[in-house]
Amino acid sequence: IVRIFDLHKDFGSVSVLKGVDLTVSRGEVLCVLGRSGSGKSTMLRCINHLEKPTRGAVVVNGEVVGYREKGGKLHELRPREVARQRADTGMVFQSFNLFPHLTVLENIIEAPRRVRRRPEAECVADAMQALADVGLREKAEVYPQTLSGGQQQRVAIARALVMNPQVLLFDEPTSALDPELVGEVLEVMKRLAAKGMTMIVVTHEIGFARNVADRVVFMSEGRIVEQGPPAEVIDNPAHEATRLFLKNLM
Ligand code: ATP
Ligand code: MG
Repeated sequence: IVRIFDLHKDFGSVSVLKGVDLTVSRGEVLCVLGRSGSGKSTMLRCINHLEKPTRGAVVVNGEVVGYREKGGKLHELRPREVARQRADTGMVFQSFNLFPHLTVLENIIEAPRRVRRRPEAECVADAMQALADVGLREKAEVYPQTLSGGQQQRVAIARALVMNPQVLLFDEPTSALDPELVGEVLEVMKRLAAKGMTMIVVTHEIGFARNVADRVVFMSEGRIVEQGPPAEVIDNPAHEATRLFLKNLM
């Protein structure tokens, strides 16, 4: 459902992604590990076109992200169409990124209203379902600041879910949380995984990767240097960089 071909990304003279190839199947849960600066966030941001690849391409659900193919050539899509494509790839950030001036419910219905232009009543019904899925039905009318970090992150997940994405991207979703709040967010993610949601999760939660991921990839210096089942990559890494990373994490 996601195919990444020879993805390169430079920032000025700095080469951050140096040729990433990756395929993620429908229903698969992929965890991405790697040191700070290895390019994990940049890769996720290329998948939903928050960053434009310098070279290579990302295909989601059969469409080249950010481009349209015409006469064998790629033409850049207009922002409105990029937004439509982006709705297929829900993204959950480390820092929640909820709108502080909107209630929880308003946060969740904003994108379906604006991007999908769906009627309000439908959006509200779906939003309440998404809130129920993350266990926060009773918080619809409150403002994000009144919630704990774990609850805010669950709202952010509900906001992504309500768009019915083909794939969910998580960028260190629990890194900004107090330790006692990490579990509730991982629990929600685990439930989504069990329901068959396709997920790409950048995380340092090795336990989650081991128990929930179908596959783990390890990135180093802008490349995928190792991938495989969690038991292989985590417990028996072949690559020196992976070993070092895991040792420092334990
Ligand atoms: P972390 O674990 O710290 O989140 P990461 O693996 O997600 O790291 P990236 O955020 O993808 O790493 O960044 C990789 C490199 O790209 C870093 O050296 C970073 O400074 C650089 N970088 C990222 N975004 C930009 C940008 N917009 N402009 C310039 N350099 C950038
Ligand atoms: Mg990052």
